[in-house]
Amino acid sequence: MIENTLFAQHARLADGWRRNVLLQWDATGTLTAVTPDSVAPGGVQYAAGPVMAGMPNLHSHAFQRAMAGLTEYRANPADSFWSWRELMYRFAARITPESIGAIAQWLYIEMLKAGYTSVCEFHYVHHAPDGQRYANPAEMAERVVDAAQVTGIGMTMLPVLYQYSGFGALDPRADQARFIHTPESLLASLATLRDARPENGALRYGVAPHSLRAVSAASLTRLLAGLDAGFPGAPVHIHIAEQTGEVDSCVATEGSRPVRWLLDRFDVDSRWCLVHATHVDENEVQSMAASGAIAGLCPTTEANLGDGLFPAHDFLAAQGRFGIGSDSHIAVDWRSELRLLEYGQRLLRRERNVLASSNAVHVADYLFDAAALGGAAATGRAVGVLEAGRRADWIVLDPDHPAIAGHGCEAWLSGVVFCEHGESPVLDVTVGGFKVVEGRRHRDEESAFRRYRATLEGLLA
Ligand code: ZN
Repeated sequence: MIENTLFAQHARLADGWRRNVLLQWDATGTLTAVTPDSVAPGGVQYAAGPVMAGMPNLHSHAFQRAMAGLTEYRANPADSFWSWRELMYRFAARITPESIGAIAQWLYIEMLKAGYTSVCEFHYVHHAPDGQRYANPAEMAERVVDAAQVTGIGMTMLPVLYQYSGFGALDPRADQARFIHTPESLLASLATLRDARPENGALRYGVAPHSLRAVSAASLTRLLAGLDAGFPGAPVHIHIAEQTGEVDSCVATEGSRPVRWLLDRFDVDSRWCLVHATHVDENEVQSMAASGAIAGLCPTTEANLGDGLFPAHDFLAAQGRFGIGSDSHIAVDWRSELRLLEYGQRLLRRERNVLASSNAVHVADYLFDAAALGGAAATGRAVGVLEAGRRADWIVLDPDHPAIAGHGCEAWLSGVVFCEHGESPVLDVTVGGFKVVEGRRHRDEESAFRRYRATLEGLLA
């Protein structure tokens, strides 16, 4: 068997489905050559089905996985994101280093099995419940990084700067004590983490100012200056306009809407990911698209929390870039995110195939390629498409799955994204050249699930 080489009868490259593709990679997990129209060398390993790049998941709060399905009852006639947040804070108060590690390990196995090969972790539970620092100030983040490394998923760890409880630099609430940092203490903790767990092809660091309600212009300036000094070019993610309530508060205290405020004051470019830019006016849509920033869309969570609908049609028409995230993990499946992204627009506009473009008429193909590339930019890592110089991260579709069996390759992604029949069509998953899911199974899934279940039972006791 030839090492570090795979032959795919069909693989999706930057220019679409190609035949007889030879993939070669090096010991660091980087693709060295991707050659279509090849002849299979003797002794080469064959892919079990069509091969395509793994999807980056650009927004995750790992601990929230353990809450999925536990807040779907009416506690208040006006239940909203804000009442959900109260429940989430109570849950966050119980999380320990051990439990966040167990939850993240199970979650990342679920992600890998679904075909997510990278995750951006927007990590904000930093301290003990009373706000006391752990002996290692990066203890919680380190457990999450370790979960990524042990499961095999690529990670961009984004420790969160959370300073205030609202616009106007309001003091944090008691139940936010676990989250609180200054720009300087956050950057120091990040440097400690990087010393303990150095960056490599599968791991990168950045920062996440939580939201404009949780930082000020002055603290954001200090955070970015410190980041540039110690982590040049590192990605920056922010929750920007998830709720109409925060848009109204921003207008009342700062005189403009959040996306406009950020674009007017900071040099927002392709290193930025604006998560939940849900509530934007036409002017902000155009400016945000022109900035090159990635819109971080999390359709299943945004639907679950009743956030609102991002104007995806207008943003994509303006050549805006986007990626997808599973955020609260009510679903851990990029197919569901892309499907709901399109369905939201169909329901709103009473049209079909809304998010296609004139040069990419197949909606699912267009959304997959755009989300993979936009998500890759948000990770700050070389992923998102199969080409030399990028990571050896891919998924293999089951050629016998009813979503694609009997169809020509032009319909494969349509079947994978829009059809919901039976088990997942994702058969095998490789990250950094290592096969981590084989035949829909991750090697550690039984032990990780036992640990997750015991953790959950402890948290809910
Ligand atoms: Zn979030």
